[in-house]
Amino acid sequence: MTKQMFKVGRVKGAPVSDEELIADLKRVAELAGVDTLSMKLYKSAGGVFDCGTIARRFGSWSEALKACGVSAANEIDITDERLFENLLALWQHFGRQPRRRELASPPSTVSQSPYNRRFGSWVGALNAFVDYANGTAVEAPQQDDQLSDISNSAGRDPSLRLRWRVLKRDRFTCCACGASPAITPGVELHIDHIVPWSKGGQTTLENLQSLCSTCNLGKSNTE
Ligand SMILES: [Zn+2]
Repeated sequence: MTKQMFKVGRVKGAPVSDEELIADLKRVAELAGVDTLSMKLYKSAGGVFDCGTIARRFGSWSEALKACGVSAANEIDITDERLFENLLALWQHFGRQPRRRELASPPSTVSQSPYNRRFGSWVGALNAFVDYANGTAVEAPQQDDQLSDISNSAGRDPSLRLRWRVLKRDRFTCCACGASPAITPGVELHIDHIVPWSKGGQTTLENLQSLCSTCNLGKSNTE
């Protein structure tokens, strides 16, 4: 995710300042009585400006909301899957259990409040995630039995549960060089097919490993 903002030239005859955009976002959020604001809600609740214009001005819709202190999360449309994916992304990024305050900044894309509303508390959210990722949650999004979800050999991209299992098995460290984001911030772990997918490698726990971006790049260069 980029935090970079790019400037958009003013449309002649319609000069709108950043301050005006922010003021209108705040106005609509207050009017709607919410602390999160989707583009759809902004329009339907009487937002004055074009959502695309706002998003371009600040780099993204989320960045625009951040700029005015409105949560980036779209609570209405947000799914458990997205909440869990965000937690896994943080776990993978930090190489350890994420902390509540880390929801507030990248790479997190969901703020704390949707977790609290859905799961009651941060601890509740973490427990729900671990239950889900370990495959013990009652409600799974897919009807498939857990075995097929875990092996997931039909597609190239491993499921959340499979990625979690790979990272956990590898203790969130690179299988080639032992680098860990928990020890060296900035180390980026990838999930790698040991036998490449293009050469018939399966998307299974046995054929997947955690590699840091450096080792992963080195591997793909020698293939
Ligand atoms: Zn490595």
